Amino acid sequence: ALPVLAVVGRPNVGKSTLVNRIIGRREAVVEDVPGVTRDRVTYDATWRGRRFTVVDTGGWDPDATGMNLRIAEQAQIAVELADVILFVVDAVVGATDADEIVGGVLRSSGKPVILAANKVDNQQMELEATSLWSLGLGEPYPVSALHGRSSGDLLDVVLDAL
Ligand code: GDP
Ligand code: MG
Repeated sequence: ALPVLAVVGRPNVGKSTLVNRIIGRREAVVEDVPGVTRDRVTYDATWRGRRFTVVDTGGWDPDATGMNLRIAEQAQIAVELADVILFVVDAVVGATDADEIVGGVLRSSGKPVILAANKVDNQQMELEATSLWSLGLGEPYPVSALHGRSSGDLLDVVLDAL
């Protein structure tokens, strides 16, 4: 079986947009309305000749009661199915309570976690990404899933971990 990369993070941070970058096709559904990716969707990807599986995750309802529990559950499921986890945070918004919860689950998983600071659309915004060191997951890699900025660099880091 191919190594599995799970893309996790709260709704609207740009997970599906990043998945489309990774697979080089526009198959993952991108929506302005949070919470569109209801289930885990699996894709084949190739980068620098290496094949792997990408899982786009989602599915918690931001308005549901017990949201923090659901977020933690989703992160746990992603951890179990993945060899490497790509944790996506919105660098413009910064780390939220939900991000901290997911970060905690991922930190204790023992699996390799790569922290993507998404929506860094230009160089001026790279500074925002540095605040994400606070999540305790190591270096935040600034990327713009929308424009493709630094997405190749991020994929190189992913490949090293797979
Ligand atoms: P998901 O819920 O985490 O899968 O997020 P989506 O991929 O559906 O994206 C949510 C919204 O964020 C959409 O309007 C995207 O166009 C937007 N978005 C995603 N990546 C970027 C980015 O790098 N920069 C900016 N400015 N917007 C982005
Ligand atoms: Mg999505």
